[in-house]
Amino acid sequence: MRYYTLKHKDVAHVAASKDGKRAYILRAYRTMNMLLLKGHDGSIPGLSEAVELGSPDVEILSPIPHPRQDVICLGINYADHAKEAESFNKDAFSKERPDPIFFSKRVDYSQGTGNIIPMHEDICDSLDYETELGVIIGKEAYQVKASEALDHIFGYTIVNDVSARNLQTKHKQWYFGKSLDGFTPMGPCIVSKDEFDGIPELDIKTYVNGDLRQSSNTRNLITDIPEIIETLSAGMTLSPGTIIATGTPSGVAMGMDPPGFLEDGDEVICEIEGIGRLVNKVCASDVEYED
Ligand code: MG
Repeated sequence: MRYYTLKHKDVAHVAASKDGKRAYILRAYRTMNMLLLKGHDGSIPGLSEAVELGSPDVEILSPIPHPRQDVICLGINYADHAKEAESFNKDAFSKERPDPIFFSKRVDYSQGTGNIIPMHEDICDSLDYETELGVIIGKEAYQVKASEALDHIFGYTIVNDVSARNLQTKHKQWYFGKSLDGFTPMGPCIVSKDEFDGIPELDIKTYVNGDLRQSSNTRNLITDIPEIIETLSAGMTLSPGTIIATGTPSGVAMGMDPPGFLEDGDEVICEIEGIGRLVNKVCASDVEYED
């Protein structure tokens, strides 16, 4: 099942779709967070109102416009990305990495596909993209072994871990450079785990203005999804609605020679097999998101 947060005739709803074309409004849940807390068995009540996802009176929002907590992110979790990050700034990115790097990405509002990524050009001179598989927790996880991790996953989405590289390196901690307003586009939907066979191995790609920049597969994660959940849940409760961004492969702008940072008007497409495409345009002017 594909779960959407969408606006239909100016009212936000949670909706479910089998085919990504026609979605059924689930009136029992006011928000996706509520659905994740209560759980959903994949059934669609008989009298549910149907909407066409491509129709002009339907706007697809981020599946979780207001995450309950910051996004938990993995840093340097594809080997080829480790190399390019080090070549951009050796001091900031060259480290021994026997264990996964976790950091937090603050998100007040996550925008969906079709919305704008603001440049923050008054403080950011090096805007970058990072396509990542987002894992959505559906069942509380505490001290969960890797072998049981799948049981705690609700599904998967696409996260663009937008980054201001100058702030990320200047402030030493990555938190600020990863957390500006509009730096967490997500979507277009959450695909439930039963659509995949076990832990999914999915092609992951980024296009900027149609040029392929990133291309890998989630099987290349250094720390895989079950291991991430086992490591974190050993001491942290992961509650339903928790979003884990699993890291990005090589091909980001800072890894190019010269760096290919994002500019006003650029179109970024984050694509993951079996989930879809998250499409956002970069915009120099300030933007007020409407949710
Ligand atoms: Mg990232």
